[in-house]
Amino acid sequence: MARDPKHDILFQPLKIGPKVLRNRFYQVPHCIGAGSDRPGFQAAHRSLKAEGGWAGINTEYCSIHPESDDTHRLSARIWDAGDVRNLRAMTDHIHKYGALAGVELWYGSSHAPNMESRATPRGPSQYASEFETLTYCKEMDLDDIAMVQQYYVDAALRSRDAGFDIVYVYGAHSYLPLQFLSPYYNKRRDGYGGSLENRARFWVETLEKVRKAVGHDCAIATRFAVDTLYGQSGVEAERDGVKFAAMADPLVDLWDIDVGDIAEWGEDAGPSRFYLQGHQVPWTRIIKQVVKKPVLGVGRFTDPEKMTEIVTKGFADIIGAARPSISDPWLPKKIEEGRYDDIRVCIGCNVCISRWEIGGPPMICTQNATAGEEYRRGWHPEKFPKKTSDDSILVVGAGPAGSESARVLMERGYTVHLYDTAQKIGGHVNSIVTLPGLGEWGYHRDYRELQINKLVKKNRQSQVALGQKPMTAAAALAYGAEKIVIATGSAWNTDGTNCLTHDPIPGADASKADQLTPEQVLEGKKPIGKRVVILNADTYFMAPSLAEKLAVAGHDVTIVTGVHLANYMHFTLEYPNMMRRLHELHIKEIQNAFCSRIEAGRLEVYDIWGEGSKRSYRGPGVLPRDPNKTQRWLDFDSLLLVTGRHSNDALHRELKDSKAKWAENGVKDVYLIGDAEAPRLIADATFSGHRLAREIEEANAQFPKPYRREVAVWGVSHMPEGSTQVEYQT
Ligand code: ADP
Ligand code: SF4
Repeated sequence: MARDPKHDILFQPLKIGPKVLRNRFYQVPHCIGAGSDRPGFQAAHRSLKAEGGWAGINTEYCSIHPESDDTHRLSARIWDAGDVRNLRAMTDHIHKYGALAGVELWYGSSHAPNMESRATPRGPSQYASEFETLTYCKEMDLDDIAMVQQYYVDAALRSRDAGFDIVYVYGAHSYLPLQFLSPYYNKRRDGYGGSLENRARFWVETLEKVRKAVGHDCAIATRFAVDTLYGQSGVEAERDGVKFAAMADPLVDLWDIDVGDIAEWGEDAGPSRFYLQGHQVPWTRIIKQVVKKPVLGVGRFTDPEKMTEIVTKGFADIIGAARPSISDPWLPKKIEEGRYDDIRVCIGCNVCISRWEIGGPPMICTQNATAGEEYRRGWHPEKFPKKTSDDSILVVGAGPAGSESARVLMERGYTVHLYDTAQKIGGHVNSIVTLPGLGEWGYHRDYRELQINKLVKKNRQSQVALGQKPMTAAAALAYGAEKIVIATGSAWNTDGTNCLTHDPIPGADASKADQLTPEQVLEGKKPIGKRVVILNADTYFMAPSLAEKLAVAGHDVTIVTGVHLANYMHFTLEYPNMMRRLHELHIKEIQNAFCSRIEAGRLEVYDIWGEGSKRSYRGPGVLPRDPNKTQRWLDFDSLLLVTGRHSNDALHRELKDSKAKWAENGVKDVYLIGDAEAPRLIADATFSGHRLAREIEEANAQFPKPYRREVAVWGVSHMPEGSTQVEYQT
């Protein structure tokens, strides 16, 4: 199918300074956990996007000096010749596919805790970071300012040596240049503080110096949060944003526009729970109106119609994307070729971001199981090794794990039967999408459903069997498949078993009329009373989502939080607005409390920290602390048990127990994947299905093959040069 001619505008080249972008698709800087220490990962992840049609591809934020060290999080670094050499692998690979490589030069000031380098960060004024609250900076004097500006220049020169085409002075997410611009950070009374001109001086001078150093060879970009979204105390688009943009425009070849700060950067990387595609356009277009240089805007753009509208209406010249490029590295190519329904649409869950927030392990993606695995496992999102046997495969369970496994096995040419009792592919995603704000997570199911249906048309031996009787071990063995994959998922505990006590809670029983599991709430068959108590021991989205759903429906909702409510949502950047939402719906929380027993219409709660703080030996059978006496009763009409999950692994156990019958039935092996193995994130279930499908010929395919590790190996020289390995003294 040819592409719609109205999308041609997205494929027009655009000049940015001395360089030309071949089209309007641009991967803005985003973290992946590679930095400059894992050059293979960095090169493979980024160049795959060049292969997939992106015209400009950036590093993540790239530190210019040890004074800006984000450890425990992982940034790129361009501190010395070793970093230049490692990042060169990325630029060389990107250039092979005709794309431009960009580097986002970064100095974090107080937002960078310098845990590795132990250097003191410098800033416009002394303050404690609102993001890293124990990190203060030293207020810069004029010598400091000149010195730090020289760091940018030196880093820019090294970037040119590393082969970068685009060099950023990064001022978004409230890093140093924006700190000078913003009165929230800048309290100076000298020529770098006070008036907007003075506050802009550091950024403008830095751009001038970097431009002078590398501007003939590289395009100069700046990333600018045009509005920090806290009114007059920060940067406001119409008050400061437009004026600064007009001031700096002659020094810039490319404007990369966004909003927000670092402490709440979910306002920029907006989760789909709260923000639709294109949510930043109202701000981007303000800047586009006042500058002459090309502008790029972000906002989880995945729809070619929306992208075309942005460019044709003049809201931005270039489509910037981080998450859509992770979810589908071949997005531009698919649009170019008119393969619209092959696009793997980002669901906006921010699980990719969660890994950076936690502290730098490789990024993962819910939609794209190959993200982060390009180098270490050699996986390509669009290319699959051909099957090496004629084995046919039965996959039981069409949730994220089973459907992904079936899809990849079919791509590899295997004959696959995907079998489920449910009427629709998708497993538990089908009910999750009914929770407030999570509708877009349905793209995960839709992508697999559509691809599998296409693949079944190509190989008529393959089949999707939905609405079936529950599969039994005997039926699975007699099915006629050589290999059986069990992907039967997990369920919420009906007896209150939880991560705190590891036991059922006396009286917890979701077969009773007034107690419900999340599945029962979502099925909607059991009546729910006015006063709802949610007993929680889960740290992700289920309890707050159910609370929101029921409060909107008019119930009075109280959450007994158990563990830190919604803690993982800090990492997905959903936490602040989730908390605002609970607050505006008057949802009550009883924090640091859990439940000891349940009776009809009431549960006994206790304070988790209610025991004595002094620990002493008191003999066998006696707790070594003063007993907890904080128990009290809480009444409910309905109690929701969000206490924990367990695998639906009975079918797999039965199959394992009947191993003796495998050979007589022609069964060579049986595997267990996804939540049926252990309940985890949708991303993990998807990965698990994908991994098995790629490695199913291995002798022990249930367990992953080793992956390539990029580690420093003793005996190889250290950086900077001259600090070569020394004799270890004890
Ligand atoms: P995962 O996240 O691991 O993919 P899900 O819970 O989303 O797991 O999906 C599991 C799927 O397996 C559901 O669609 C469910 O209907 C199906 N299923 C579970 N047990 C059986 C069974 N015995 N026979 C057929 N389908 C099953
Ligand atoms: Fe999009 Fe979620 Fe993948 Fe991130 S993890 S790219 S938000 S689908």
